[in-house]
Amino acid sequence: MRAFITGCGSGFGHRLARRLLQEGWEVVASDPELEALSDLEGAEKYCLDVRDAEQVTSVCAAAAARPIDLLVNNAGYAVFGTQEETPISAVAEMFEVNVIGLSRVTQALLPTLRSSGATVVNLSSVAGRTVFPESGYYAASKYAVEALTEALYQETSSFGMRARLIQPGSFATRFLERATDASLPRDPRSPYASQQPIWDTRKFTILEPPQDPQLVVEAIVASLDDPRPFLRVPVGPDALRLLGLRDRLSPDAWVRLAGLRNGSPDTVGFDSDAYTPSELAALDEPCAARLEASAHALTQGHLDHWSEDERDGLIAAINAAS
Ligand code: NAP
Repeated sequence: MRAFITGCGSGFGHRLARRLLQEGWEVVASDPELEALSDLEGAEKYCLDVRDAEQVTSVCAAAAARPIDLLVNNAGYAVFGTQEETPISAVAEMFEVNVIGLSRVTQALLPTLRSSGATVVNLSSVAGRTVFPESGYYAASKYAVEALTEALYQETSSFGMRARLIQPGSFATRFLERATDASLPRDPRSPYASQQPIWDTRKFTILEPPQDPQLVVEAIVASLDDPRPFLRVPVGPDALRLLGLRDRLSPDAWVRLAGLRNGSPDTVGFDSDAYTPSELAALDEPCAARLEASAHALTQGHLDHWSEDERDGLIAAINAAS
């Protein structure tokens, strides 16, 4: 079996290359820094910056001289910041790697991937289906990866190809360091400055402290043995918590709950919304669907912005209804 991986210089890509080599795979390891691949003994190594169209064409042509069974589009990074303040040039550069670069490599390799009925593993993120304030641009790039992967599956499954979307939560790679380098530092005079501490509190209660990246590698390897032709693979309790609740609430109810957690003003809820503390306090007759949504939100840790008394009130209402 032969795998082609982008962004093998550090993080998930580097570990995955090592893991597959140990398993006896032939690995085509690529990265913009050839030096960063030096300890990947036994790998076929290429200098590859996925932004460089000519380089993608020549590297993919050389690699496709022999069949490829697995493509892992791993190269990627984040630019964080509010939509008002983040330079569009930085956003465009990130999309050039996360979306266009991924598409360039996939397109260049598809003829060989089709003929070997290969698997394509795309590194999405928990940000491929959920957003936080200041993550809109990064999440947009990962939502795009999700759309591309779903469509790729529909286009290529009749050739025996399989697709996987990996959705890590927070992991200890060079990701945060790189995101800090690529993003503007916060400006204390920003119109958003007073909201940012709330955003940080909410984000860091829902995301785990950076976890062991080997978990992601093992999840990718396990997904290769899964017979299902299409798979989303959330990795880490934070990803499971966020995506689990997101899948249970209606899409709009999810957005409204996330807004409330991040300090948006309390508004009148709709049938599928979790209750807010003020609604719950004024309640005569609870709505079963809203109580159920609230129970899911509570059990998955999304009501940490409520006081203990408010949470106790909700538990009492849930118990009374059941
Ligand atoms: P990382 O340690 O920063 O690794 C990223 C790799 O991508 C590096 O080897 C980097 O190469 C490479 N890369 C960057 N720009 C590139 C380009 N233009 N062409 C080719 N390669 C390029 O971070 P990571 O966490 O392993 O990230 C891997 C993937 O996981 C990314 O797609 C990221 O969005 C995703 N992800 C990460 C997390 C997390 O918490 N760590 C969570 C969710 C999703 P150089 O170092 O040589 O520049």
